[in-house]
Amino acid sequence: MENKRIVGILLCAGSARRMGFDKLQTPVAGKTAIERSMEALAAGGVTEMVFVVSDSSRIYVNSLACPVPCTVVQGGDTRHDSVKNALEAVSGDIAVIHDAARCLVSPELVRSCISAAEKYGSGIAAVPVTDTVFRTSQDGFSLVDRDGLFRMQTPQVFQYDAILRAYRQGGGSATDDCTLFLQAGNVPHFVPGSEDNFKLTLPSDFARAEKALTRYGTGFDTHRLTEGRRLILGGVDIPFEKGLLGHSDADVLVHAIMDALLGAGGLPDIGHLFPDSDPDFLDADSMKLLKQVVTLLGKKGLRPRQVSAVIIAQRPKMAPYLDQMIQNLSAALNVPAEQVSISATTTEGMNDEGRGLCISARAIAAVC
Ligand code: MG
Repeated sequence: MENKRIVGILLCAGSARRMGFDKLQTPVAGKTAIERSMEALAAGGVTEMVFVVSDSSRIYVNSLACPVPCTVVQGGDTRHDSVKNALEAVSGDIAVIHDAARCLVSPELVRSCISAAEKYGSGIAAVPVTDTVFRTSQDGFSLVDRDGLFRMQTPQVFQYDAILRAYRQGGGSATDDCTLFLQAGNVPHFVPGSEDNFKLTLPSDFARAEKALTRYGTGFDTHRLTEGRRLILGGVDIPFEKGLLGHSDADVLVHAIMDALLGAGGLPDIGHLFPDSDPDFLDADSMKLLKQVVTLLGKKGLRPRQVSAVIIAQRPKMAPYLDQMIQNLSAALNVPAEQVSISATTTEGMNDEGRGLCISARAIAAVC
């Protein structure tokens, strides 16, 4: 691939008629479809990018920090005209044509399509049809033989001059590039696409994309029980003869949840962010530190979706306080209370928790 000009043509001009809002500029788990597609193309080996924009996407695209050199081109009335405008605007060795709405495309798929195009002249992402297919018409129903049927995706990658020739010759009714490439007398080469590489078309596709982008983290913490300290768990001050020892308020439940959230967000752990050598965190209210974690996630475009945690303690009984803990956590995390689950268990007298030496907590968290 060295010294080759591999031009990514990112189609960002589509209208949002079916969505009722601009699907390409609405964040999905913190990043827009245009950003995600741009990053995947660059990570997949594209050396320069042409953004094909509409009047509404031009300003947004100009505000992006593209990782490779880029050009912005006005889209045409049809997809055909848009791609042709982009191909005519620059030149190169390989053209990587991609619909920005397929924003979950992986760099690996982009790379595979580019490799195929270098070897065979084209590399087109396609997935075999596995469902039973019927055609309906006025005459009734007929079963379509699905053997050999493929659903076409993007990226569709070609030798630059060959696809440019096809666009100069071809008509404007084709809904993808492969059709024109075929009509111009070429034999396309398919690369296995992915079910995750779907197009954001309906509002429900946003939920599907968020699900695919959700990340999970796990957290654990333990603090020693001692006399002369308050016992604070999940922000609730629990009447008990002992409390947890620590530099902060030693809210072991909140600490486990913070580490789970930080892990899910790919951030450093709480020991790193809030060191116990720092006097700022002496007797710190852990609920406030939790809110700082939510802010840090927000800076990465992420937010908590779900938290589940268990408190491990022999005594006192936690049941009377669990609802209040859930309310406190739901408010700090800014998620509905149904998405926060807190349980408690003893260890039947075993281990340090069972002997009343400490209280521990484990948590898992989902963020996207
Ligand atoms: Mg701790």
